[in-house]
Amino acid sequence: MGRAILVADDDADNRTIASDALQAAGFEVLAASDGHEAIELAVSRKPELILLDLSMPKLDGWQAVRRLKTIAETRGIPVIAFTAHAMTGDDRKAREAGCDDYISKPCLPGKIIEKVKEWLPRS
Ligand SMILES: [Mg+2]
Repeated sequence: MGRAILVADDDADNRTIASDALQAAGFEVLAASDGHEAIELAVSRKPELILLDLSMPKLDGWQAVRRLKTIAETRGIPVIAFTAHAMTGDDRKAREAGCDDYISKPCLPGKIIEKVKEWLPRS
């Protein structure tokens, strides 16, 4: 099995930027555009890490991470939040919701890879 990363973001451009960078770094990418898809893919494909946009339709990232951390199969998967609100306290709120780390948007593709490698040191 390849080293799959789940990219969940409702913005197609953001998904493409993250996916291209991850694929160039040798990862397989699974893509979701809302929280429901993210949970389904996380349960069925068990990615090694999840990049999760917090602002998404249907089920947002805040709700999705809370669910992911209660499901036995997905609880142990590191979740890195993508947040557009680089506001004081947002990192704390993301961690309280269950995220393991966060990246504020906009960010360079290199930053995403750097952060993923912090969590997956074998890559
Ligand atoms: Mg969004």
